[in-house]
Formats: sequence, structure tokens, C-alpha cells
Amino acid sequence: MAELQRPTLCCCRKVLTVPGNKSCEGGRSLAHCRLVDVASASNFHSFKLRHFHLDLHLNFAVKRITGWQVLELTPVQPGVQSLILDTHPSLLVHSVDCKVPGASGAPDVVLSLTYRIEPFTDYGSSLNISLPAAVIRPHRAFRVTIRYTTTDGPAIWWLDAELTCGQTRPLVFTQGHSVCNRSFFPCFDTPAVKSTYSATVRVPEGVTVLMSASRSAYSKQDRVFQFSMEYPVPAYLVALVAGDLQHADIGPRSRVWAEPCILTCAVSKLGGNVERWLNVAEGLFGPYVWGRYDIVFLPPSFPIVAMENPCLTFIISSILESQEFLLIDVIHEIAHGWFGNAVTNATWEEMWLSEGLATYAQRRITTEAYACLENPCYPFSFSFSEGVNPSSLMNLFTYEKGFCFVSYLSQLCGDIERFDSFLRAYIEKFRFSSVIAQDLLDFFLGFFPELKESCVAQREGLEFERWLNGCGPPLCEPDLSAGKALTGPVQHLCDLWGMDAPEPQVISTFDLSSWSTFQTVLFLDRLLDRSPLPQEVMSLLSSCYSALLDDMNAEVQIRWLQIVVRNSFYPDLPRVRSFLHKHTSRMYTVPLYEDLCGGVMKCFAVEVFYQTQARLHPNLRRTLQQILFQSSAFNTSTAPSLLTSPPSAPSSPTDPTANGTIALRDVNVSA
Ligand SMILES: [Zn+2]
Repeated sequence: MAELQRPTLCCCRKVLTVPGNKSCEGGRSLAHCRLVDVASASNFHSFKLRHFHLDLHLNFAVKRITGWQVLELTPVQPGVQSLILDTHPSLLVHSVDCKVPGASGAPDVVLSLTYRIEPFTDYGSSLNISLPAAVIRPHRAFRVTIRYTTTDGPAIWWLDAELTCGQTRPLVFTQGHSVCNRSFFPCFDTPAVKSTYSATVRVPEGVTVLMSASRSAYSKQDRVFQFSMEYPVPAYLVALVAGDLQHADIGPRSRVWAEPCILTCAVSKLGGNVERWLNVAEGLFGPYVWGRYDIVFLPPSFPIVAMENPCLTFIISSILESQEFLLIDVIHEIAHGWFGNAVTNATWEEMWLSEGLATYAQRRITTEAYACLENPCYPFSFSFSEGVNPSSLMNLFTYEKGFCFVSYLSQLCGDIERFDSFLRAYIEKFRFSSVIAQDLLDFFLGFFPELKESCVAQREGLEFERWLNGCGPPLCEPDLSAGKALTGPVQHLCDLWGMDAPEPQVISTFDLSSWSTFQTVLFLDRLLDRSPLPQEVMSLLSSCYSALLDDMNAEVQIRWLQIVVRNSFYPDLPRVRSFLHKHTSRMYTVPLYEDLCGGVMKCFAVEVFYQTQARLHPNLRRTLQQILFQSSAFNTSTAPSLLTSPPSAPSSPTDPTANGTIALRDVNVSA
């Protein structure tokens, strides 16, 4: 991470407060410090955004959203002369008006406003609206209406019918995380700003629309869907999907939505589990505040595994192949209901406040619900190598180092259940707001005053600063010994596959088909870390496992095929080809193409790309073209979608140059 290389600064460019040292610019709680979000061009500090409304018409024939947006704003400082919103070159603004309440009973004043679009970064631009000084006053609310059209910006994924599961009707979905929604509607595109929202969406007959909203209604006569999100959310959590979607209830507050051809399968794989997990999570972290918890399954072009859109988790349908991953991923998204959605990181640089805490919460839920589903087995399936630039490890650091830090805090307080009660109180205190790390740490030390006292008495402070700003691996890892029964055989088999090819008879005593997916994935991740392997080892690996792994789910297959590619093992290339013909999600294709182009198989990659490109979403096609034809100058404009790689499928840290996530940090920080 770029920020980790500047050891004394944190997200808001101030020195971190350490316990017992209050001299640091007065402490940096969000309330006292003007937060800098380098990924936003907007002047969000100048306003309070109470609510916004979207009125949208979806036109599938021309892949265009046309409509208007109303923002309800109050200036919070004097002399505000402009409203600057984040937007994107793919969004065309037609007009901007404002409506100001008339003074003492006079009629409202409606004015047409001038505006200009200015370049900002390669992932967005700024919409600079001039405000009439005569009528805009501090603490007096006014409304701005923006009429606009938007086409196929990074947030909006139009799928032709052939790219859907049913292949009969088109579908559109949005993916806002992290800085994409500025191409969906002009906004304060920063996680520091939260507001309620509502939407009216007009669609052709037969199309069902869903949004990340707590209430919805449908007028069949007008073919209009109405949505309202009554709880404040940041812009990146506004999400929409529209297509041939049907539903089935799976619990008192949950239903599954999917295209008709996969609905039955999706329901059968989740069954009554979701309500059970929600109950476990509520027992640990307090009430689930969003009302409904629904899940919509999206076609294989969905670029990531899942997205925690409030009230409505988006998840890729391909994950139905991988039962254990499906369960873990849904539990992870449920955990975001508390960590990430109710309490949100105020800047992208501290995304661990969302992902690290959600990963911790996910593992608390699985431990409570199953004793041991994945908890001890999975987290450390990769090694932290010296010399690797941490900026290439965004996923790893965000999820796993964040998880380790949260585990460290729980160890400091000495009792996992006391730590649960701290997390409950943290949620209650900061619910519906955005926080920085210092908010969490101050609250932690306030909750456990004995820790603060002992740390002041020892005059050495806790390790917070080294954790948050130091480079390298976590300072300590949670005790995972409970998982030895699962990891032991994996480690044993890894040891046997040392630098020399092992005895086949010894290897044959390990039956991978009886292992859990997580054990197999751990084994393959270790081999991937060690690649390239000696050719005779690779040949024996292939003869032992290739056919077996080929029958397993995509999470297993992609790891094996990455090993094949990184070892330039030509005999198994046909399996790589058929995998790339079958899978069309960014998360299953980009790592393989990057490995192919990083090695000696670029021609093969180009050939497969030309064979499959017609079935790839244009966004993915563009990314792959960049990898294939401009790989030396990988375009960071694709990065926002890469940021949200699956929590359970971190990229291998051994090859940072081949890892698109390198752009995550850069895209946010280099602005
Ligand atoms: Zn997550």
C-alpha cells in the first residue's frame, strides 16, 4: 500500500495519535479533523446532504439511463459559491436547476444554474455548479436538480441476452464500489458522506428492478418501480439490477432473487441458513438494522464474487458450483450489515475498517454457527514475502492484515466475548456514520480503560501505530491451532512436494477428493506461491491431480490453472482454454490472462481472447485488451472494480507485477 510507505501519516495526513501522547494536532477524530478524500473531486465539506432522489428511465435497446436527480443540500459554512460533485465522462449533463425556499412565506425561487465539467482523474471528472450567492445562505436548505443521461460507464453493466444465465432477456446491474457510482449519478462519491435516497425507475414490460433499498413498490400499470432507503448510506452502496428476475422466500426477512433458470438451485443451496446466520450475527453484534436481507444472483459476467449492497447482497451465480465458498461469501456479506454498511470507513485508505472487521465478524459467525467451517483453515494460505511492495497486496492487507489487527485487539482485551460486547457498543455508537481508525481506537481504549492505563504506565504505548502504518506482515497472528486437524494434512502434503518429486506411493495415501474445498485451495495456494516448480515435480503433480481437480469447482480450478500457466506446463493448456471459454467473470479471467502474458504464453492468450471475446462484457474485454496489448502500461482506470476482489480469494502475493490490485491504492492516492 502506498500509504504504508509513509510511516508517520495516516488517512487524513496527520500523525497518528498514540495512547498517552495527546500532542498530535489535538487527536484526529472525524469530528475534529477535516478529512481528505483524494479520490473525490467534490466539495463535500461545504454541505450537509440530507437526501437525494433519482428518477430514471432504463432503455435496454440503446443501453442508456436517462433521468434526473434531486439533491437536498444545506451549506454548512458561509460563502459557498459552488457545488462540486463527482461525475464521469460517460455521464452527459443536460441541465442544472436549483430551488430555494422563499423568505417569510414568499414563493420558492427556481433558478437555472451554470455549470462546467472539469477533468479530475482517469476514473472520473468533476461537475462544478455555480451557486447564486444572493440566495444560498449557510444552514438554509435548497434543492439542486440535475437532468442527465448515462450510458456504459464503469458502474453500469449492460448485458445482452446472450450474457445472461437464461440467454433470453437482457439485464443491467450497477457496481459502485469503490469510486464507480459517479458514472451512475453525480454525487459526493466518498464513503465519508452518507444520506438517505429514493428512486423511481421506469422500465419496459417484463423487467423487474431491484435496488439496495429498505422499501420498494411496483405499479404494474405504469411499469414504475419505487424505492426508498430510509437509512443513510454512502454513494458506493447505491445499487440497481434490472432484468428477468424472480424470487423465492428463504426466511422471514430474506428472499433469493435470480433468473428463473437458476432460482431453484440457488434456493436449495442456501435453504434456511440465512436466517440462522442473521440470528447468530445479531447475538454477537446487536440488531440487524437494515430490515430485509435479500440476495440476488447475477450472471457470470458479474466482475467480483459478491457485493454487500445493503438490504440486497449481489452475488455471482458461478459461485453456486462452490458450496463452501457460497456459504462463506454470504456470511461475509451478512457481516458487512454491521461492519462496512452500518459503520463505514471514511476513506478508502482505511478500507480495513470495513473488510478487516467484516472478515473478523464473518469468522466469529462461522465459529459460532459451525464450530469450525473455515475459520482456522483459510486465513493464512499465503506467505508474506520480504521485499514485496505492500501496495500490490491491497486485498491481502485489507482483509487479512485487517483481520489480524482486529484479532490483536481482541487478544489485548483478553476475552473474546468481552470483545464481542465492545463490537456491539462500537456499532451502537457509530451506527450510520463513517469513521477513521482513530475513532475505533479511541473508543476501544475508552471501553477498556485498564488497557489505556497500563499502556500509559509503561510509557511504551500499544502497537497501534506499527500495525497501521508499518510495512510488512502482521505483528502477530491469531492462534489457529484449533484448525490443525484440517491444516495438518495440507502442510504434510506440501512438505512432501518439496523441491524433489516425491514417491508416488506416499502421495497416493492422500485423498484430495475427501478434502474440503478450503483444504484443497490452501494446498494449491502453497504450490502457487512456490511456482515455478521443477519440471519433473510439475509433471508428477499433473499426473496425480489434474484430472481430479478438473472436476472440482471454479475456485479450485483457477488455482490449479494458474499453477499450470506459471510453470508453462503445456500438456494442461487445453484445460486453461476450456476454463476461459466457460468463465466470463473478471475474477476468473483476469488472473489467468495476467499470468499468461507475464510468461511465455501470450500468443495462446491472444488466441483464446479472440475466440471468446464475443461472449465477454465490454468492460472486461477492455481490461483484457489492456493486459494483452498494453501490458507494460496497465491502465488504472480499470482498478476500481478490481478493488473488491473476493475476500475468500486473495491474489497471490508472489507476483505483484501481475496483480491488477496494485492499482487500487494508486488510483485513490495518486489523485
Ligand atoms: Zn467484504
